[in-house]
Amino acid sequence: MKVPFFDYTRLYTDNKEEFDCIFAEVCSRGAFILQQDVRDFEAALAQYTGARYAIGVANATDGLEMCWTSIGLRPGDEVIVSSHTMLATASAIRVAGGTPVPVEIGQDNLIDPQAVEDAISSRTVGIMPTDLNGRTCDMEAIMSIASKYKLYVVEDAAQALGSKFKGKHAGTFGHSAAISFFPAKVLGCFGDAGAVITNSEQAFQTIYQLHDHGRDTQGNVRSWGRNSRLDNLQAAFLVKGLSRYQEVIKRRREIADLYNQHLTDIDELSLPPCPSANSDHFDIYQNYEILADQRDELKEFLLCNGIGTLIQWGGKGVHQWEALGFPQILPRVEYFFDHSIMLPINMFVSDSDVLYICHKIKEFYGNSQ
Ligand SMILES: *Cc1c(COP(=O)(O)O)cnc(C)c1O
Repeated sequence: MKVPFFDYTRLYTDNKEEFDCIFAEVCSRGAFILQQDVRDFEAALAQYTGARYAIGVANATDGLEMCWTSIGLRPGDEVIVSSHTMLATASAIRVAGGTPVPVEIGQDNLIDPQAVEDAISSRTVGIMPTDLNGRTCDMEAIMSIASKYKLYVVEDAAQALGSKFKGKHAGTFGHSAAISFFPAKVLGCFGDAGAVITNSEQAFQTIYQLHDHGRDTQGNVRSWGRNSRLDNLQAAFLVKGLSRYQEVIKRRREIADLYNQHLTDIDELSLPPCPSANSDHFDIYQNYEILADQRDELKEFLLCNGIGTLIQWGGKGVHQWEALGFPQILPRVEYFFDHSIMLPINMFVSDSDVLYICHKIKEFYGNSQ
């Protein structure tokens, strides 16, 4: 039996005819740049998340960077991030002209609100929580720190489309947020793509101009900008994907539940919260990431049994990349990355795949009954 970590070809082959139709239809219209499909997708995304505005952009990293550029970071301005995130979170701040300050994670492996408060200095201007693995951070705690110290909040919701905290969508709490449609993301397309969402009219206007050469929605140049537009063809695929996105979330939550049922008794593992664990959180399981004793040996054992797993981001927190020169020492993040491993979770994974994986994990820990 073989269970790849993520089968990229099936993204296309499982719905080949439908995608071929979309391709033919869009290309026959000659509709490649900023056409109706981008507008349709932006409208659908805003409606789905409950954000007032959505802007399709080239990728989520650009999106995060433009969120901070629109705020106007100056050299020396600090933005607090979790060290347990993709490097893109920190690099977006850096490229926008500020300084990322990585901090510790809490019990749920997301940014620790107490660590955020402890890291605030006279130079702090913002916080960028990452809604990692499809779970929205405790945004009540983050927003209350932000309002106490008058800080901007930009959410890295790259992994969290459809995830909610207390009924409110990831990405709709702060100034603005970015979502990614990288192929392996919950809503993936056939290349790089992303979106910015915001409730602020001013943020919308500024980011809109930034992403299209300084032009406003009427095409008049209002400021300096760049090109970071969402491809119209990708937008057309994304409109289709978003229309059946509820099924994706439902299935991912089912798989998470199944892993949880079958792995919960293994003492050597620490599992993410199951879908029904806490009614404040609605998680969409971009990833199913566990902490495991003898992690490297487990990974090897699963590989020998045809099961693909992933150790995320080279197995390091943001502050652990020596070349980037961070002075921080963050033991909880470092412990996390020494033990974390991701199991396959996506639309191509069947129940019997999950049972096979769980069976092999039990076998590894000598507990195969
Ligand atoms: C994927 C990802 C990004 C970057 O998204 P791109 O669209 O690839 O630029 C940023 N942050 C997190 C947490 C991600 O997982």
